Amino acid sequence: MYQQSEILFERAQRSIPGGVNSPVRAFKSVGGTPLFINKAKGAYLFDADGNKYIDYIASWGPMILGHAHEEVVKAIQDKAIYSTSYGAPTQLEIEMAELIISMAPNVDLIRMVSSGTEACMSALRLARGYTGKNKFIKFEGCYHGHADSFLVKAGSGVATLNIQTVPGITAGVANDTLTCAYNNLEAVEKLVAENKNEIAAIIVEPVCGNMGCILPQPGFLEGIRKICDKENIVFIFDEVMTGFRLSQGGAQQKLNINADLVTYGKVIGGGMPVGAFGGKKEIMQHIAPLGNVYQAGTLSGNPIAMIAGYTTLKILKDNANIYNELEEKTIYLRDGLNKVLLASKIPFVINQFGSMLSIHFSDHAINNFDDAASANNGVFKKYFHAMLSKGIYLPPSAFESWFLNNALTKKDLDYTIEATEESLQEMAE
Ligand SMILES: *Cc1c(COP(=O)(O)O)cnc(C)c1O
Repeated sequence: MYQQSEILFERAQRSIPGGVNSPVRAFKSVGGTPLFINKAKGAYLFDADGNKYIDYIASWGPMILGHAHEEVVKAIQDKAIYSTSYGAPTQLEIEMAELIISMAPNVDLIRMVSSGTEACMSALRLARGYTGKNKFIKFEGCYHGHADSFLVKAGSGVATLNIQTVPGITAGVANDTLTCAYNNLEAVEKLVAENKNEIAAIIVEPVCGNMGCILPQPGFLEGIRKICDKENIVFIFDEVMTGFRLSQGGAQQKLNINADLVTYGKVIGGGMPVGAFGGKKEIMQHIAPLGNVYQAGTLSGNPIAMIAGYTTLKILKDNANIYNELEEKTIYLRDGLNKVLLASKIPFVINQFGSMLSIHFSDHAINNFDDAASANNGVFKKYFHAMLSKGIYLPPSAFESWFLNNALTKKDLDYTIEATEESLQEMAE
């Protein structure tokens, strides 16, 4: 069934470390061979063996409209004939910035980069440059890309591969990274008190997607907002996952909390390598060439990347109903999964917010990294492979969220629920 993928994986490992260009793709925690994908259309992926899958990864979020959306593809094609990069400013970059500012709250100025990693790394540097302070707080299990400062108690692939300390990160860097448990406001208060006048920023995934989907408990983000105001700390919302996914204005709008700086990635590029960071003018004006906090990129604002992102965001802005449709679909799926999981008697927790969802095989609520890490990975593995064999492509790690795309039909969702029911029966045998 996976013969071509097996051949390709074998070959890939001879020239690419671990056969993949990003670790989670390697299927390490679930075992088996990663699928090599040939093409995708709408909600479906097709692998090298010609198998068809319903896709719940959506390229880890970006393909919110479904794969190969006609308008987006056409826009890229039309742009490509005029060269793929100039290294000089274009009108399209202004249109992109204006569009983002019209959709996202608290963004006066926005700088485009090429990945979520760059966006978070640059936002942190800016917060440090702006406040003149060095330390920052991040939460265990949150992932903010692979810049050195963030690879301390990180989620996503770092958690999947169970890497406790990342070699190559110096103690000096790690010492400025303070961590505490997600949803634990008292721990934040304590850290801030212990490091009085030393903390530049608190960065958070407003809704977590890198330890499975985890929701902020009422009062958690609101409490951090108050601490940041009081202590002159820059509050950074890492909206690389949630931006333009949870609503037009991302988590800021959906949760009604204001961030000082916001980082974007994933959906903002419509499937091309794009990231961005933005915020209030008072802070953003410290970025070079306006200010001295240096940040740059040869391919930043690349025309092909910009047109893919612009076209995607414009569709989302002009069809605000997409967010309602996506949420309805996700709730429909959640309720259906809930029903068949309950019947199976296997302990589970489904966390869902907007179009993000995950199943943790656990008998306790999942509100932070320790909760997620103590769920039953053996059951997850079996479920993952049973679903894959039925043509459902789920994230190959319990530390990743499912992302729904709007090309999914009710029939796809019903099939996914039925496949779950069958998978659970097989697992019981
Ligand atoms: C994916 C992700 C990143 C990193 O983005 P890349 O484009 O992979 O560098 C950062 N923060 C969050 C919340 C993410 O989900």
